[in-house]
Amino acid sequence: MTNTMDSFGRRGFLKGLSAGAAAAGLAPFHSAWAVEARLPTPATKLRTIVVDAGHGGVDPGCIGRTGTYEKDIVLSTAQMLARQLDAGRRFKIFMSRNDDTFVPLTERVQRARAHGADLFVSIHADALPEASMRGASVFTLSEKASDREAALVADRENKSDQIAGINFGTQDPVVNDILFDLARRQTNNLSIQLAQQLVAELGQQRVPLLRNTHRSAAFAVLKAPDVPSALVEIGCLSNRDEERALRQVSYRQSVVAALSRSVNDYFDQSGT
Ligand SMILES: [Zn+2]
Repeated sequence: MTNTMDSFGRRGFLKGLSAGAAAAGLAPFHSAWAVEARLPTPATKLRTIVVDAGHGGVDPGCIGRTGTYEKDIVLSTAQMLARQLDAGRRFKIFMSRNDDTFVPLTERVQRARAHGADLFVSIHADALPEASMRGASVFTLSEKASDREAALVADRENKSDQIAGINFGTQDPVVNDILFDLARRQTNNLSIQLAQQLVAELGQQRVPLLRNTHRSAAFAVLKAPDVPSALVEIGCLSNRDEERALRQVSYRQSVVAALSRSVNDYFDQSGT
């Protein structure tokens, strides 16, 4: 073996030897087996997750009744989630923002695809017209909203780019085309699976949920055609009690525990 052969070449070479030996009904010869045992196998491949904290910079997101900014609550929650997922040594984690900066919605999607993300989790907090309404909810993408309120939530979240003066009409036409393709459908099915895990785990952690917990609408940030994605509204800043709860680290830890378990369950069960 020459020392110019890279590790991939060696791995491929050794795998070929093992496979050849197995096909011939032979035990793999000792030296190749020993080296192979130390090399990473597909089962140990780190999955890539993009944790997306909504809003940021010039875009505060929703503002709570006592002045809490959505962008601050969701950044803290996203950072806690990234740390927790990273600690499990099962995932490679990227954050779409890690400080108070503005990142356009389309760029969040493009960055996730550039990282080769296996999963995209977007974290937001909502404000609802009725001050008495509270609870977390989970959204997946669909061009047709599941109900009028879901369409309104998507409209609010999609305003981010307009706030920063970016013309939302200049969306990548290629992405729009691919939206209708088979890959999109598979991604949608996986996104729905993720959303169901999220709803179940939030319930397990006793995080209050909206009655209509899992809904769908045309969220710009969920439009990567090949990355299963969900958007979690972790609570309502328009409800005084929930705003107070969201400001508490212990409450956000319950939310993060649910999100982290959902991501792990998703990979355990989807087999992707
Ligand atoms: Zn938001």
